[in-house]
Amino acid sequence: MKMQIGGKAVDACSGEFFDIINPATGELIDRVPKGTEDDAAIAVESASSAFNGWASTSPQQRARILYTASGIVRQRQDELAFLLTREQGKPLAESKNEIEGFAHVLEYYCGLASSFHGDFVPVHQNGYAFTVKKPLGVCTAIIPWNMPALIMAWKIGPALISGNTLVLKPASNTPLTNLTLASILSEAGLPPGVLNIVTGPGEVVGESLVKSPKVKKISFTGEARTGKRIAELAAGGMKRVTLELGGSDPMLVCDDADLEAAVAGALRGRFYNCGQACTAVKRLFVFESVAERFIKKLEAGVRNLRVGNGLHENVDMGPLNNRRQWEYIKELVADVEEKDEGRIITGGRVPEVSTCSKGYFFEPTLIVDVPRESRLLKEEVFGPVLPVGQVKDLDEAIEESNNTCYGLGASIWTKNLDKARAGCEQLNAGIVWLNQHLKVAPEVPFGGTKESGIGRENGPDALSEYLDLKTIMLKI
Ligand code: NAP
Repeated sequence: MKMQIGGKAVDACSGEFFDIINPATGELIDRVPKGTEDDAAIAVESASSAFNGWASTSPQQRARILYTASGIVRQRQDELAFLLTREQGKPLAESKNEIEGFAHVLEYYCGLASSFHGDFVPVHQNGYAFTVKKPLGVCTAIIPWNMPALIMAWKIGPALISGNTLVLKPASNTPLTNLTLASILSEAGLPPGVLNIVTGPGEVVGESLVKSPKVKKISFTGEARTGKRIAELAAGGMKRVTLELGGSDPMLVCDDADLEAAVAGALRGRFYNCGQACTAVKRLFVFESVAERFIKKLEAGVRNLRVGNGLHENVDMGPLNNRRQWEYIKELVADVEEKDEGRIITGGRVPEVSTCSKGYFFEPTLIVDVPRESRLLKEEVFGPVLPVGQVKDLDEAIEESNNTCYGLGASIWTKNLDKARAGCEQLNAGIVWLNQHLKVAPEVPFGGTKESGIGRENGPDALSEYLDLKTIMLKI
């Protein structure tokens, strides 16, 4: 596939390409252009030329195009899901869900088309004022490989409906679904240059986009370390940033919780997308009084998970997306074993399926008796490994949960209203779930506190991240 700049499919200035590999089989799926600083500059120019035209259309006209695109995406859901599974690895059902999510997010922003406008404000003794909301100009979106379609929608939905133009840099492991979705938007009538996609290394293409003087805003999703680098670069041009970074979400299971429901929540919360979700359950704390029963049930559930190629039937968990992530998880678990930092009660190995297919598979893994200082509790474990700790009461559970530099999501599982309220109020996170985990919806804000990021996506407030507010004072 080629990059998409100015409504055309183009190669990189360098003439070079890089390989896209199926993580379940190691097979080559496709090759995409290895974009350079020049390609980033051409894409920004293209977005800049398209800006005035796009900003002067009405939000309703923009909504019609986005709505047409979401209709095409729905019609082509199976084909897009197949492509997503091939490049990302997740089971087909999860890919279908994500493609449906892409369409749903665009439709949500179409619904907001008539909602953003300024205000008329009487000013005491000084007459009147009014405010107007204007698009910012050229924006940049940089996205990761774990949910490439959904996160693309979280960024292009609010940016485009509010009249901005965009250059998007997909993750180098998963650009194919993004490129196909961009071509669907063109087919739906998006004018050339309004959405441009440049493939290539983050350090080259991503940094060029962030530094470009014509880029007014950067919306980034990815690792905290990369987010800090982007914040530093953006500060030079005093640019707006939205940073959606890592998380180490805790799940608290209280003594009165519905244990069956909590087990199901932990299985989905940790092992969905092979554990590669920013709001996955990354640390689990269970009350001592129910720990034995809960862990037994959870262990049985983990042992039942079927690992394999996401394109095959009856697969619950696919491979990790890439070699780097696979090596990290193997090394982490080996380190835990070597330092005796916990007891693996199931999993912990590369399964048979991996040696047969050259895929990046790892067994779903449960580890107990993990000491506080272990890497398992300190780092963002982006893979299918769940440390389970025991706590004596809610105070200790909340203290342990908040003992992290992250603050993305957290969940509390209880039927007791007082405990639920304490959890919802005291857990330090951008989103707190009660008796569920991982659920997100375009209608509600999403984002983190502490080192999990700056700003929010989704919900009506996401639009203000892409709009400038101007005040006009009148003396009449
Ligand atoms: P990553 O390594 O930070 O990469 C994310 C994107 O940034 C990729 O497109 C990458 O390009 C690009 N990039 C890398 N270095 C860059 C630089 N110096 N300047 C500009 N762009 C650069 O993250 P990842 O490994 O793909 O994704 C996993 C992380 O994303 C996890 O930490 C996860 O928690 C987080 N995440 C957060 C959310 C949220 O909403 N909070 C959602 C999903 C994922 P290349 O691919 O070319 O390296």
